Amino acid sequence: MGATSVRQAAVAAITNFGVVPPRINYKTTPINAIYASNVFNEDVQRARLPKSVFKKLQQTIKKGVPLDPGIADSVASTMRDWAVEKGATHYTHLFYPMTGITAEKHDSFVAPMDDGAGAILEFSGKELVRGEPDASSFPSGGLRATFEARGYTAWDPTSPAYILENPNGTTLVIPTAFVSWTGEALDKKIPLLRSMDALSQQALRVLKLFGKTEVTKVFTTVGPEQEYFLIDRNFYFARPDLINCGRTLFGTKPPKGQEMEDHYFGSIPERVLACMLEAEQELYKLGVPVKTRHNEVAPAQYEIAPIFENSNLAHDHQMLTMETLKRVAEKYGLACLLHEKPFAGVNGSGKHNNWSMATDTGENLLNPGDTPHDNMQFLVFCAAVIRAVNKHAGLLRVAIASAGNDHRLGANEAPPAIISIYLGDQLQDIMDQIEKGPAKSTKQGGYMELGANVLPKLPRDAGDRNRTSPFAFTGNKFEFRAVSSGQSIAGPNTVLNTIVAESLDYIATQLEKAKTKDFNKAVHSLLAEIIKENKQVLYNGDGYSEEWHKEAARRGLPNFRTTVDAMPAIVTKQAVDLFSKYKVLTKKEVHSRFEIMLENYKKTINIEAQMTLLMAKTMILPAALKHQEMVARSISAAKAAGAPAAALSEQDKHLAELSSTVSELQKRIGILTHAAEHHAPGDTLAHAKYALDAVIPSMQAVRHVGDKLETMVADDIWPLPTYREMLFIK
Ligand code: ADP
Ligand code: MG
Repeated sequence: MGATSVRQAAVAAITNFGVVPPRINYKTTPINAIYASNVFNEDVQRARLPKSVFKKLQQTIKKGVPLDPGIADSVASTMRDWAVEKGATHYTHLFYPMTGITAEKHDSFVAPMDDGAGAILEFSGKELVRGEPDASSFPSGGLRATFEARGYTAWDPTSPAYILENPNGTTLVIPTAFVSWTGEALDKKIPLLRSMDALSQQALRVLKLFGKTEVTKVFTTVGPEQEYFLIDRNFYFARPDLINCGRTLFGTKPPKGQEMEDHYFGSIPERVLACMLEAEQELYKLGVPVKTRHNEVAPAQYEIAPIFENSNLAHDHQMLTMETLKRVAEKYGLACLLHEKPFAGVNGSGKHNNWSMATDTGENLLNPGDTPHDNMQFLVFCAAVIRAVNKHAGLLRVAIASAGNDHRLGANEAPPAIISIYLGDQLQDIMDQIEKGPAKSTKQGGYMELGANVLPKLPRDAGDRNRTSPFAFTGNKFEFRAVSSGQSIAGPNTVLNTIVAESLDYIATQLEKAKTKDFNKAVHSLLAEIIKENKQVLYNGDGYSEEWHKEAARRGLPNFRTTVDAMPAIVTKQAVDLFSKYKVLTKKEVHSRFEIMLENYKKTINIEAQMTLLMAKTMILPAALKHQEMVARSISAAKAAGAPAAALSEQDKHLAELSSTVSELQKRIGILTHAAEHHAPGDTLAHAKYALDAVIPSMQAVRHVGDKLETMVADDIWPLPTYREMLFIK
């Protein structure tokens, strides 16, 4: 068996692994019966915990009251009994380190008895509340030296524990926060929770001015729409670039791409739909409220979207969604690609982050109502967001920066790297009115006649949609669209919450000290001032257009095209002061994130460069040489058989072009080898800049010639699955 067939056998083994869990029969078990069936949620807590313990726990979850350590033992033993009934043998503290993915270490419930007479099941309050994984192998960005290996996980009671099923047993999963021995946040959850607290505090001040004293907590809410690709796993395993880098480093554009616009919302292929149904089933059991599924724009691209939840839960559920998509895809012989740009030349993937603020009394603070022009409270919260995005556009850009997302932002598909806000006609009109004086009217959409008697009249929205804006108001929430498909949503939401907290703080402070007794008047003049100062960030036009790039430059809006350009914005004094003022990140924690993100960038490019070289040298070059030899042999055979030279001129030309392309490939391999072996002196930023300026272009140069060879070499010799296969065979 050659290397390839061994590989294929391994692929088959993975695909065929496992006991397929009994499929749920929805005729006998309605879908709502399985929903959250594996979650230690409020219902389970109410039914099983002592009343007083239940009450205290709910106070913490719903009102943010500090956790009473006295209830831990009771919660732990109840949780253990529930989990064991669900088949759990182990528990794990799940955490969200700065790698951007999840981490877990499993411990068994089993505790052998001292006298050797068997074992009992143990899980104490102490074990629920605190875990101690070795922290030394997680990125800390200089927060701790390697010898200071201690790290702690702390139970997050606001994100319910759940059961993760496996054919061979189940595990109780407890979402946690992750801190260093010195108390610094080593994860993405702690800053997110801190930012939610900061926003709540400031929003309450504003609400109090509007007489809403019954509100005791404001939550930010998030509904993230996840885009992803599914391709056949056999192709995936034959592409070392997909396995190790998540994206194709070679691949020529197929004759047919997405230009026919026939994939978006197209009918979902049978196997893909089967995979989606099972992924959704798994997510329902875990209480993840997934709602929508459809084909996306690029061939083989899809989307899944949940109903929104509070940001912390939405974050944890979003991580679960990504994990589940990947895990379930395998069972269907598919590979789920979450990279921002797996294929050049067709659309990449994003994660639209729908965001709003809601009170514990159930009010969405970004709900404009029917007549937003006289909904002062809405206008104030909306203006707070506009001001925040304008003042801190750089930080929002940092929050979505990565080597992968650089392929998307600025390309003609995803939102541009320039951060601007789309308000839509109705709201833009109101903001224009406010700038000149109190707003007096709201444009209404009216109704549409469809011209056929049998069809109903449809209400028309007051404004159209805009898909080119990175930050759009969509009815009763803002949609941050530049977030990338593969990233954790914790970072972008931490930034959003913090910058809006700062705006609300500013607004509350201004209104509290307003000289006029007339509250409405004070609000009007503050709104006018905010719009005047921040309207440069508002843009309702085409975000992809050349004009916008010029116009944005004229307005002085930042346009950070790459991660390397963007990152310094997070370590400016303004940013550090902002994060420390609202107790979201200390100066040290900010710097650690700067280091980690740039390190990550540099390492990503480095891995891609190494892989490009490997594939070029061990796959593409040998194939090209083989083809070249074949052509040369056929020419000599023809000559030997007495073919006249003139008859062979086309073949000679082909051979000449082949050999010059091969030489060019070899030359470019040499240049990339040199670039990848060196690095710039200096700090992390200098290293990242070197990767951007020296490594990426040399890598692209190798790809360019590799892709040219793909169009010249015989198909049966070409060693890599092609775009036309990966994107269209499903
Ligand atoms: P659209 O069609 O404008 O994208 P949808 O109603 O389909 O709007 O919602 C898209 C996403 O926005 C969904 O995940 C939804 O749950 C989420 N969403 C809706 N309302 C809110 C809100 N108040 N806060 C956060 N996300 C929201
Ligand atoms: Mg949307």
